[in-house]
Amino acid sequence: MAAAIGATIPGVHRLAAAEPQGGSFKSGPARLGPDEAQRELMDGNARFAAGRPNSPRRSPADFRQVAEGQYPFAAILSCADSRVAPEILFDVGKGDIFVVRVAGNVVSGAGAVVKGSIEYAVAELKVPLIMVLGHTNCGAVKAAIAHLHAKDSLPGAINDLVELIKPAVEQSKGETADPLNSAIRKNVQLGVERLKNLEPILATPVKEGKLKIIGGVYDLHTGKVKLIS
Ligand SMILES: [Zn+2]
Repeated sequence: MAAAIGATIPGVHRLAAAEPQGGSFKSGPARLGPDEAQRELMDGNARFAAGRPNSPRRSPADFRQVAEGQYPFAAILSCADSRVAPEILFDVGKGDIFVVRVAGNVVSGAGAVVKGSIEYAVAELKVPLIMVLGHTNCGAVKAAIAHLHAKDSLPGAINDLVELIKPAVEQSKGETADPLNSAIRKNVQLGVERLKNLEPILATPVKEGKLKIIGGVYDLHTGKVKLIS
């Protein structure tokens, strides 16, 4: 019941974070389940998009409360784009979400740094929800479309990054009349699939229903996150 209370009164479940974690991480009391965590995120996005954010848990007292331990209720893998700040667009506060940001929100081929960060959030921080978050008008996906057949056409490591997004461009060809939005969606879907099947840490709790991995696309114009299947 405590988790349900936390879902309706923002911050209640985070009060548990005031308790020191001791020698090892543990699942804190009053944790949200996967569906409750998703509702918390989407409710926050609805407040943000409506221009009525609560801007919760951002005072010095809130910082101190989570200084000794963190119990985020979701992990977000989002694009590094300056307009896509997860804490703001989901209207959450300190200690609420564990955020990994990389241009193009790439998973496959992104290596141990990205995957290891997500695995850490699940194995150690016990997050019940992961969201891969793309966004409209994504420059990284645009570059993958523009340079689809031109290898080594971008300077430095940008080319390597863009290469990771090209499978999404290829696989989404012809899906809709809007190649950019199709590729953005497919890129998120591929990321979700990759994480769902990621052994040995993520795949098992996903099968057991303890961990939910979802995809979303943030609309830069409306401020709304649309979940994608
Ligand atoms: Zn982007």
